[in-house]
Amino acid sequence: MYIRSGEWVIISSIKAKAVKYFKSLQARIFVIFILVGLIPIFLMKYFILENYEAQAVSQKSTMVQEQCRQLTDQISETGYIRGNESKQVDRQLEQLSKLYNGRVIIVDSNFLIIRDTYDIDEGNVIISEEVLQCFMGKDSANYNRENEFLEITVPLRNKDTKEMEGIMVVSVTTTDVEAGKDALGNTVLTLQIVLTILILAVAFYVSRMLTRPFGKITRSLEEVRGSVTEQEISIPDYTETQLLAEAYNRMLRRMKLQEDSRQEFVSNVSHELKTPITSMKVLADSLLAQEDVPVELYKEFMADIAEEIDRENKIISDLLSLVKMDKRSSDIHIAETNINQLIELVLKRLRPIAAKRGIELVLESFKPILAEVDETKLTLAVSNLIENGIKYNREDGWVHVSLNIDSKYFYVKVEDSGMGIPEEAQEHIFERFYRVDKSHSREIGGTGLGLAITRSAVLMHHGAIKVYSKEGEGTTFTVRIPLKYVP
Ligand code: ADP
Repeated sequence: MYIRSGEWVIISSIKAKAVKYFKSLQARIFVIFILVGLIPIFLMKYFILENYEAQAVSQKSTMVQEQCRQLTDQISETGYIRGNESKQVDRQLEQLSKLYNGRVIIVDSNFLIIRDTYDIDEGNVIISEEVLQCFMGKDSANYNRENEFLEITVPLRNKDTKEMEGIMVVSVTTTDVEAGKDALGNTVLTLQIVLTILILAVAFYVSRMLTRPFGKITRSLEEVRGSVTEQEISIPDYTETQLLAEAYNRMLRRMKLQEDSRQEFVSNVSHELKTPITSMKVLADSLLAQEDVPVELYKEFMADIAEEIDRENKIISDLLSLVKMDKRSSDIHIAETNINQLIELVLKRLRPIAAKRGIELVLESFKPILAEVDETKLTLAVSNLIENGIKYNREDGWVHVSLNIDSKYFYVKVEDSGMGIPEEAQEHIFERFYRVDKSHSREIGGTGLGLAITRSAVLMHHGAIKVYSKEGEGTTFTVRIPLKYVP
């Protein structure tokens, strides 16, 4: 068959919808409901009909057996079985045969048929399992479903001696049982159809109703899509949906916090970057506004402008360092490093700066330390701490750096004799752009990013940093880093 491309699109969209439906919870509930509901209904028909048939056959055989028994005494009394003629017995046998639309055979003790209401086998010998068993004293009732008849054997005993004289074999048709079964079958089928329709409807309704809360979740989530708003959702229909809603609300709150901190960071960065530019603009404008500016003033202003450019540079390079620290740990380049050497190099580089203010820089290290670290990042972290120790110190003060080690970690302690940090500010100093005294920090070239960079570097190594400080007395930073890096 040739199918045009438009039709293809329709067919594949129907297919996709079908796959989507059958994968849904709704479809599964629907199918389970139908299975649970319909299987008993179909089994019910089988059991009802089987039961009816067994009951009807057993009733019929009891009835026939009862009538036969009433005849057996007469047959014995009249000597019919021994060859005596009895019109009454003959009539009764005919009646029985007619009543059940069946055949009655009387067999004597020599297995000879002495009476057959069908007049076919009189004088013949009959030997069958049922006949033999009946001669042994057992009556039987055998139902032949295929040919729709019931064969009943009843022993004929002498009324006085109770001796076996012969047997009576009655074959009755069971077409009425079959007809009754068919009629019942039709009623049950009608019932089955009605119940099936009912179950389908209930299954469809229940599956839709049970899965409705999930639709609610989707709609609620779609409503908050786009921006991180404060719209929290609540779907208390099921414990599961409520847990899902709560988890979602928690995620929303986290995202909001992140969004707030991102916005704050961006506005801080813009502000920090703008400050030096504004200063430069003011300096340049004031030079341009004046006529015949002396060369000395030009030089002085230019020196100020150069200083602002340096500052801008420092902010940008600090920001870049911070961004690098924020990246994933795959950016970390771990190698076994001699920590003593690393710290000595930092001190060597900073000594001239400390010397300018007469600050004494001392390193105490008792044991050699080898650890798995990222050399660049750790150098930056320790440099920032020692630089701060120098920056926020008094003239002719001191900065003591000491190194220590135990079985798992190494420790770097940076102690200074500086101005200290007020207690209420201590919990904020690791935040980006936080400065205790903004104007003082700016004067001495601080960006407010140094400790944030240090903290990120330490955390990247799965280490810890702590601060102890007393205003006016000095500050101590301790850094603890594992000797072995665990990714
Ligand atoms: P900055 O670039 O301004 O130094 P940091 O993040 O390195 O930024 O430090 C944050 C603030 O913490 C500083 O502005 C300063 O006020 C305070 N601070 C940091 N280290 C010390 C210290 N050793 N002594 C006193 N104050 C300090």
